[in-house]
Amino acid sequence: GVRPLIAGNWKMHGSLSEARSLAGAVAQGKAQGQADLLVCPPYPYLLPVQGALAGSDVALGAQDCHAAAKGAHTGDVSVPMLKDCGARFVILGHSERRADHGESDAAVRAKAEAVLGEGLVPVVCVGESEAQRVAGEAEAVVAGQLAGSLPDGFAAAGGVVAYEPVWAIGTGRTPTEADIAAMHARIRAELVGRFGAAGETLRILYGGSVKPGNAKAILALPHVDGALVGGASLVAEDFLAIASAV
Ligand code: 13P
Repeated sequence: GVRPLIAGNWKMHGSLSEARSLAGAVAQGKAQGQADLLVCPPYPYLLPVQGALAGSDVALGAQDCHAAAKGAHTGDVSVPMLKDCGARFVILGHSERRADHGESDAAVRAKAEAVLGEGLVPVVCVGESEAQRVAGEAEAVVAGQLAGSLPDGFAAAGGVVAYEPVWAIGTGRTPTEADIAAMHARIRAELVGRFGAAGETLRILYGGSVKPGNAKAILALPHVDGALVGGASLVAEDFLAIASAV
């Protein structure tokens, strides 16, 4: 029932010309009827990527935002600014931001409120560390992150959750299919517990070393409604191959 979303998180990679050509290749290569596609370039490339996507139905997103609409916040970018540049989605609470910038669940929730307030869609990332998984705490950690990071309006706005085990990001390692399925079922249960029936149709993406070679098996798992792709989203052919695996 849920239409899959394949999202590319370009992180801090590429040049302006590479961003333009990657976006153009994704827009050109997207097959009709395929999963929804989303690309999330670095801030300075939002506008040129918007231009490169023009006329296609590939969506544009940002990788973070500030919780305030404006103000004295040097170096930060607000949601109205992102919206102005054509962004429809905002990735929030990525583990790299939680680690590099000390973002707490409360900070992620405040940002998500700001995203909802502008009518954009938050993509809230959660996921356990390797130590937490080894300790058997993975599901509890993720449930706690969801409880703390998701605002009340999340389901009504069609918010997206991305499960990204920290130890699977950029490592070439992934959880077993059974472990991915178990976590996504737990996330679904948490969403339904919090939001009722609306939680049944929210998209839960898997992220962490998704490649053309493993995408089909991962995307076939129950409650896996798409993928959040890092490294492989920087190569148009690989990103499109992942989208074709839906
Ligand atoms: P990789 O696909 O490079 O493992 O990155 C996943 C990720 O962090 C996407 O947000």
